[in-house]
Amino acid sequence: MEKRTSIYICTGCGIGDTIDTDALCNVAKSEFNIPTCHEHNFLCSKEGIDFINDDLSKNGTDSIIIGACSPRVHTSTFKFGKNILTERVNLREQVAWCSKPNDEDTQMMAEDYIRMGIVKSQNIRPPTPYIEENLSSDVLVTGGGISTITAAIEGSKAGYKILLVEKDQELGGWARNLFLQLPQSEPYQQLVEPVIFQKIEEIRKLSNIELLTSTSINEISGQPVKELDELSEVTESDKLKHYDSQGKIDPFKPLIQAEPDQPENIPEKRPARILTPLEKIDLSQIRLVAVIILNKKQIAMVEEASGKGYEVGLGTYIGKNQGRVTEIKNSSIVITELVRDFKGRLKENIQEIKLHKNDNGE
Ligand code: SF4
Repeated sequence: MEKRTSIYICTGCGIGDTIDTDALCNVAKSEFNIPTCHEHNFLCSKEGIDFINDDLSKNGTDSIIIGACSPRVHTSTFKFGKNILTERVNLREQVAWCSKPNDEDTQMMAEDYIRMGIVKSQNIRPPTPYIEENLSSDVLVTGGGISTITAAIEGSKAGYKILLVEKDQELGGWARNLFLQLPQSEPYQQLVEPVIFQKIEEIRKLSNIELLTSTSINEISGQPVKELDELSEVTESDKLKHYDSQGKIDPFKPLIQAEPDQPENIPEKRPARILTPLEKIDLSQIRLVAVIILNKKQIAMVEEASGKGYEVGLGTYIGKNQGRVTEIKNSSIVITELVRDFKGRLKENIQEIKLHKNDNGE
C-alpha cells in the first residue's frame, strides 16, 4: 500500500541560516509528489511537537520525515506511535554545522539528504512477526536426578505443564545412595539428610507434573519440540545396552596425530642383565684419570666421585643411559649412550670425558 508521507523541516540551530529550506520542500513536492512539507523554527519544542501531532491527526499521514538534527538526539521527542513510520534526516550536524553557509554545494548536499530520506522512507516495510501456530509451552524434562527434579519443580511453580521421564523405576538417581550430604543452608556446620527424598515427595504433590518412570524417549521432533513422538517402557534388556565406541571417532583424540614410532625407535627397557657398578653412576660423576696403551691396546682408567677406580675399554658399559665406550683417545674417552627425545624416542647421544687434570694442571 502506498504510504502517505509528510515532511517537517526545522530551521532552528542554524539550519535556516545555512540552507534554503523552501528549496528542500520544493524537492519533495516536485520530485516525489509529496504535498505536505512544513517548516518550523523549533521543531523539538512543545509547540513543534504539537504542530506535528495536529497535522498528523488532520491528514492521515502514516510516514513522516523530519529534517532537523541528528537522529542520535531527541530520539524520544520525535516518537509518534507505532503506526507512524518516522525517518530522521540530519541537516544540522551533517550539513549546517560542517559546511559553508548558503553555498551551492551545501544546498545540493542538503537536497540530496532529503532525497535519500524520502526514498528510504518509501521503501521501508513494517516487519510482520513470525508467530508459529499451535506452539506448545509444555516442558519435557528427561531424567529423574536431583537437577532435573529441581528443574521440573521450578517449571511447575512457574505455571508450566511438565512431563518428567525417567528410565529407572525410581526417581532420585545417584543421590538416592547418599547417606548424608553437604548442608544447603546456614549454618553449614554438619552434614544433613539427603534432600532428594524431600524433592521426590514435593514432585508427587504437584498436579501439573506428569511423571513417567521406567520409560525412555524413542523419538522427538520439531524445533522447539512440538510433540513427543514416541515413548516406550524400558525393559531389562534395554538396561543392558551400552554405548559401543567401535568404529566411531574418539572425541578426545586430536585430529592431527604424530606418526607412530618406528619399531627401531621404540624405547627399550633397561637390559635384563645385572648392571655393572659403572652403569649405576651418572656420567657427570665419572672422571677420566689415565689412558694407557698396553700392547697397542688402549685402556682408560676412570674414577667415581668417591675415588674408587675402574678400568674401561672399548665396549664397556658406562653411565645410566646404556652408554658404551666407543672410542679411546690419547686424552679422552668417547661414550655413546641412548637418550629419549621430547617425543620419547631413543636417540644416540655422544659424550666425551676428557682427561682430568690435577691441581697443578698436570
Ligand atoms: S535541536 Fe533539532 S529539532 Fe530542536 S531546534 Fe535544533 S535542529 Fe531543530
